Amino acid sequence: MAFCPKCGAQVEDGVKVCPTCGENLEAKVDVSAKVTELTNTADITDTLDPNDIQNNKVMAILAYLSWLVLIPLFAAKDSPFARFHVKQGLLLAICEIIVAVVFMIINAILGSILPALLIATSIIQWLINIVFFVLSIMGIINAAQGKAKELPIVGKIKILDNVIK
Ligand SMILES: [Zn+2]
Repeated sequence: MAFCPKCGAQVEDGVKVCPTCGENLEAKVDVSAKVTELTNTADITDTLDPNDIQNNKVMAILAYLSWLVLIPLFAAKDSPFARFHVKQGLLLAICEIIVAVVFMIINAILGSILPALLIATSIIQWLINIVFFVLSIMGIINAAQGKAKELPIVGKIKILDNVIK
């Protein structure tokens, strides 16, 4: 059961127009479906040892705090729970570095030919960095709650699977 965002009336799932006030619900339903789809990532919590999760939550949280990821990378090698989050945290850091380098190149080129566009690229870069920040918060929340759940967008990248076991 969903609620109309305009008048608050209860509407059946899948209904496209609110029967009470006539509000078009389709666009809003799509947004929430997209968010659900994006956050509905693989979760391997059930395959891990609850003791491992309980004992290594701090290590897992460190994985999302910039260079502090090095601590669990080297100090929690025997914890599959910490390893899971180290991989996610490193993926995020790699994506952040790639984006930073790409924007450095774009800005250098634009700076010499179209400096007026630098404002636009810095806004785009700022928005992408907000996404990275939100993803790292999500990772920290997952780690603190003892969940081994992939991050949206970057979590599916498998480049580290052969490097970190
Ligand atoms: Zn309504």
